[in-house]
Amino acid sequence: MNATKTIGIIGGGQLGLMIAEQAHLLGARVVCLDPAADAPAFAVCDDRIVGRFDDPQAVEELCRRADVVTYEFENVPGDILIPLVERYNIPQGYRPLYDSQDRLREKDNARNNGLLTPRYAAVDDEASLRAAVSSLGLPAVLKTRTLGYDGHGQAVLRSEEDILRALPMLTVPCILEEFVPFDFEASIVMVSDGRQVVSFPVGRNVHRDGILDLCFVPAEMSDELLGRMKQLSAEFMRRCGYEGILAIEYFVRDGEFYFNEMAPRPHNSGHYTIEGCTTNQFRELVRYLLGMPLEEPRLVAPTVMKNILGQDLEEARRIAAEGHEGVYVHIYGKTESRPKRKMGHITFVGMTPERYEREWSDRFVR
Ligand code: ADP
Repeated sequence: MNATKTIGIIGGGQLGLMIAEQAHLLGARVVCLDPAADAPAFAVCDDRIVGRFDDPQAVEELCRRADVVTYEFENVPGDILIPLVERYNIPQGYRPLYDSQDRLREKDNARNNGLLTPRYAAVDDEASLRAAVSSLGLPAVLKTRTLGYDGHGQAVLRSEEDILRALPMLTVPCILEEFVPFDFEASIVMVSDGRQVVSFPVGRNVHRDGILDLCFVPAEMSDELLGRMKQLSAEFMRRCGYEGILAIEYFVRDGEFYFNEMAPRPHNSGHYTIEGCTTNQFRELVRYLLGMPLEEPRLVAPTVMKNILGQDLEEARRIAAEGHEGVYVHIYGKTESRPKRKMGHITFVGMTPERYEREWSDRFVR
């Protein structure tokens, strides 16, 4: 009997690539579905389907070729996945995707399951925008309810001029959120098998132009706050009945934390776990998918993760060639490099924020 299992991944980007690498280390095969023939994960997976995420036949073909299916792409349409969840082994189900695909539903769901959020209001036209501005005040952040990522589809409103400039956004349903003058942003990545929830050490995230730039682990916060964040996050996952992997991003302010958004897939802020922890987010997701017991991760040493966008790609290659101890350069192998495109990341193990600033920050485009 051949016991090798095949994991199907909807999406073949860098997240799919890193899931596939860990799947191989645990003895599984991988089949990926992606519309781009040069998707990063195709370079390492065992079988591929070039097809669209909204093509029911392509997604079903992936399910047919796999023993268990997961997703690394968040916007898989429900009318495609929901019927397949009945017939194939997609253990995370459609629910966490559904709950996270609309920012209004996502925040309602967070509130209903024990988490604080910034104040917000649904906005559909100029009248509801003006009403929301009067109740939430300025500054505020206007976001499209669906399909936003890396700061796309959002605008900070500080003045009447900003409001007028943002009106064209209202051709699609939006949400207005109070602007949170946070002390810092933090995120937690968890994996649950329905019995146990393991969580990775919480990092402090620094964004630039709406895109994650740096992640410093551990985030410096009181034990009390950290304990509460871990506990309420795990409780949230249990209460929602989510299994598999879930990342939650928080704004931290004055000893309190506020839910910003969640993602039911490996998270960019968890890339540091590959070398910075005793087990990593991709490996634990794969262990869950294969029905193996989960491992509780531990931080190996203070770690810094730097995202490599197109503008830093050449420098990243130089750093890789220099061969520094504790410095791990990941290049995703995307064929086209663009200034704001995520091309790779570098993990510095045994690195403090202060030392990173002193010794490394100057090497990247500011
Ligand atoms: P995306 O889905 O595009 O990543 P987010 O909602 O996470 O969108 O917003 C991207 C970044 O913009 C956040 O990480 C944060 O730095 C900033 N931001 C978003 N919402 C707010 C807010 N309500 N208050 C302050 N900053 C915000």
